[in-house]
Amino acid sequence: MKKLFGFLKRLFRRPFEMSKDMKLACVECGNGFRFEWGEQQFFKSRGLTPPKRCATCRAESRGGDRRRQGRRRR
Ligand SMILES: [Zn+2]
Repeated sequence: MKKLFGFLKRLFRRPFEMSKDMKLACVECGNGFRFEWGEQQFFKSRGLTPPKRCATCRAESRGGDRRRQGRRRR
């Protein structure tokens, strides 16, 4: 049974390996995140460099940071 499981696992993993998505590591939190093929094309067409941070950190740096720091303290 275990053998069959391994076989299935390999079968399911294959599409991921074959896909053109890139795996990048976030410089902020160190987590790996996926840079999808469509996004790669988008960034390329605009002459942008690939993102260095995961979506979570990007969202945080965009809006969350100031709000967090600007909290009133008493
Ligand atoms: Zn991150």
